[in-house]
Amino acid sequence: MSKIINGKKISGEIKDELKAKVEKLTVKPKLVVISVGDNPASKVYVGQKEKCANYIGIDYLHKHYESISDDELVKVIDKLNKEKKVNGIIVQLPLPDGMDETRIVNTIIPEKDVDGLTYLNAGLLLNNKTTMASCTPKGIMELLKREKVDLVGCNAVVIGRSILVGKPMMNLLINANATVTMCHSKTKDLAKITKKADVLVVAIGKKHFVTRDMVKRGAVVIDVGINRIDGKLYGDVNYDDVYDKVKKITPVPGGVGPMTVVMLMKNCIEAYEKQNS
Ligand code: NAP
Repeated sequence: MSKIINGKKISGEIKDELKAKVEKLTVKPKLVVISVGDNPASKVYVGQKEKCANYIGIDYLHKHYESISDDELVKVIDKLNKEKKVNGIIVQLPLPDGMDETRIVNTIIPEKDVDGLTYLNAGLLLNNKTTMASCTPKGIMELLKREKVDLVGCNAVVIGRSILVGKPMMNLLINANATVTMCHSKTKDLAKITKKADVLVVAIGKKHFVTRDMVKRGAVVIDVGINRIDGKLYGDVNYDDVYDKVKKITPVPGGVGPMTVVMLMKNCIEAYEKQNS
């Protein structure tokens, strides 16, 4: 098995599995993506979602607003919540400054919350009762599973405590019986902790933050970071610096990123199945 965890290849395999599943359905699952404003990164991510949905055969609708009030957006989501044909809804984050992301995301009914970000779905994950987990951490779990990384009893360290990545990642790892340490910007002596990690997940948003002296020999390193500098993408881990010390590592790009998109489609199909069971 290669040292590089090839998220692009694995996500391609999952895409084909999902496509085969959707081909058998007479009514296709429907996903609605809502975006507001002109965030350039969001445009790229929405485009990737559309491409992936089209490939799998998911009915995809993109609703874009140059600007919209919170109340109006809540009304739009309420309407989609009631539409039987719509199985999954996501709001592309971040929303423009001043909008209440928490209120808007929590307007989506949990059954259609395919990003797994509503209070109920986050709470279910905490209680080890859901499959509708946030897409990036869910994708990482799938990578670890397909790479046969044994998580039971291992020391897992997560750097970054966001609602989107770090916290659901921590819960998924705990649910998989890893011993998890969660680190953030106030963590003291970070390197001392990361050096004990059998599995290290880094989600902070700082180019090449994790260096050789911070990783344990033989560790599995998952780099979530996407840092776009002068049109080039960099991870949070200094890949070249740590490469010969680690057992496995995800590259940037081509590691975690492609898994996030495909897990959104998986969540949408799972939502469809639950709504139609
Ligand atoms: P976020 O909401 O900005 O959270 C960053 C986290 O990193 C915070 O918890 C912060 O700690 C912590 N942090 C910042 N500086 C640190 C330091 N010096 N030492 C230790 N911890 C530090 O970010 P996010 O949404 O989780 O995203 C993180 C990165 O992943 C970004 O580059 C983003 O683009 C990328 N991302 C990639 C994907 C993908 O599909 N590959 C998906 C989502 C996000 P505090 O809480 O103390 O501030």
